[in-house]
Amino acid sequence: MIELVNVEKTYYSKAGDIHALHKTSLSIKAGEIFGIIGLSGAGKSTLVRCINMLEKPTAGQVFVDGQELTAMSEAQLRKARQSIGMIFQHFNLLASRTVYDNIAFPLEIQGLSKSEIDKRVRPLLELVQLESRANYYPSQLSGGQKQRVGIARALASNPKVLLCDEATSALDPQTTKSILHLLQDINKKMNLTIVLITHQMEVVKTICDRVAVIESGDIIEEGPMIDVFTNP
Ligand code: ADP
Ligand code: ADP
Repeated sequence: MIELVNVEKTYYSKAGDIHALHKTSLSIKAGEIFGIIGLSGAGKSTLVRCINMLEKPTAGQVFVDGQELTAMSEAQLRKARQSIGMIFQHFNLLASRTVYDNIAFPLEIQGLSKSEIDKRVRPLLELVQLESRANYYPSQLSGGQKQRVGIARALASNPKVLLCDEATSALDPQTTKSILHLLQDINKKMNLTIVLITHQMEVVKTICDRVAVIESGDIIEEGPMIDVFTNP
């Protein structure tokens, strides 16, 4: 489903170039929950942002669902990104919009009609159990509720892939658990491929099928959870 081939990312600056990702290759299968774990500054965020081309790789190729994103024009990319949802550590909700309107936002941009939007948003509100909060604003929600809005918004375009950038790092342990269960539930129900970056071992232990360990821009280990984290 996701294939990175010799992807490199360098941030150029007068103060000194930063080689955030060295030649990185990675293959993530359809339907799996894939974790990328590493310390702060290891290159996790750069790696996950290369998957949807929020960061343009300096070299290498990115394929998602058989399409090469690194060969696309901006217009083609905008279309391709509809099949890649993303959620963030600090949720990135629009403060001036209600829960309902945050979830509807990507669909409005796609030009769907009000009734088509409603048909998509209602079941998503139900999925993330926020029907009773549809008219609340983000400031009226708890952290866990905000992330559930983030998840519903990411799912609005019926993506095949969900990228999670430290999605539980701002949440307490109990809320983290419930968000991870929700992600697991969505993964099964929708056969959604999930890529999750985190610095929290508990998170990968709880839900990941396979995991890669990243250190200073290099993947130093990769495999099924049990192989990577079982001491010989
Ligand atoms: P992580 O997500 O593991 O914390 P990042 O991918 O954010 O790691 O960062 C990897 C390296 O790239 C770090 O040295 C960081 O300072 C640098 N970096 C990340 N984003 C930028 C940027 N936009 N400009 C310059 N350097 C960056
Ligand atoms: P948690 O401890 O689970 O993170 P909170 O204590 O923040 O949750 O919120 C508990 C409940 O109160 C939630 O259902 C949330 O919708 C509601 N709530 C939280 N903050 C506000 C607010 N500023 N205005 C209205 N309702 C709120």
